[in-house]
Amino acid sequence: AKETGRNGYSFYDANMNQDLQRKLALNVRLHQAITNDELDVHYQPIVDLKTGQIVAAEALMRWTDRELGFISPAEFIPLAEKNGLIHRLGDIVLQQACRQAAQWQALAPLAIAINFSSVQFRQCEQLQQRVLQVLAEVGLPPDRLEMEVTESIFIEQDTCLINTLNHLKSVGVQLSIDDFGTGYSALSYLQRFSFSKLKIDRSFIQGMTNNVADRSLVNAMLAMAKSLDLKVVAEGIEEQPQADYLNLLGCEYGQGYLFSRPLSAAEFTQLLQSQTLQ
Ligand code: C2E
Ligand code: CA
Ligand code: CA
Ligand code: CA
Repeated sequence: AKETGRNGYSFYDANMNQDLQRKLALNVRLHQAITNDELDVHYQPIVDLKTGQIVAAEALMRWTDRELGFISPAEFIPLAEKNGLIHRLGDIVLQQACRQAAQWQALAPLAIAINFSSVQFRQCEQLQQRVLQVLAEVGLPPDRLEMEVTESIFIEQDTCLINTLNHLKSVGVQLSIDDFGTGYSALSYLQRFSFSKLKIDRSFIQGMTNNVADRSLVNAMLAMAKSLDLKVVAEGIEEQPQADYLNLLGCEYGQGYLFSRPLSAAEFTQLLQSQTLQ
């Protein structure tokens, strides 16, 4: 038993080491990816559940490294939050997605939803300035930008953060609560800020059709959103019955593989053009 324990321990060490090596490699490669302009943005449609029309696109960062291959943002975003690169990554997405959204306005009055990490709000003044600057530069009306933030930004009750959110809101920028239901659970912040949208995390949506508890949670979230005058986006819709049920419950918007996977800018443009022709 002792021997197994020791083997188990050294196996664990080897895993730790591999993990660390990958992190170090990703750190180095991510720096290079930024310098060499290798990061890309893909766009996933957000649709009106009643009409099927595309009302917005969520910008999702994509990175394929020449040696390491495709790397999920679920892996590199947390790393970038630790090493500080998130500020530069965030700026790349902000610029690229807003420029793209400004072009799409000729096809449809589409909003662009961009994810913002809580770490980006630690430089809140610069962030506020950059958002306003980029909107002006690319000529995108502020109300076409939806900033997606998770509940975690409210863990640190920072006046700068609050001022920034209020200021952006006052010029027309929309704020959405992302991954709702998964994080920090004090709901008071929902009253103190005027959010426009609440995005129900896909874990609830996927459980909804065969799990009674998930279904009643989704129901409760929709009722709460209605009473706070928030529109709701259901994330991760993969099957038609989920969309039908959500529509029945009065959920306004949906996003998920049922409608479309995240698309390259060119693919998204084609999709918009085909919708406009209908
Ligand atoms: P998120 O903001 O919750 O984004 C939705 C994620 O769900 C995306 O994963 C999307 O591809 C995936 N998804 C959409 N529909 C479905 C579906 O029907 N089924 C399933 N299983 N998944 C679906 P992705 O692109 O891998 O991004 C993962 C996370 O990485 C995002 O979660 C977000 O937290 C973060 N992220 C991605 N891009 C950025 C970015 O530009 N900035 C920041 N700060 N975070 C980002
Ligand atoms: Ca999001
Ligand atoms: Ca989400
Ligand atoms: Ca998420």
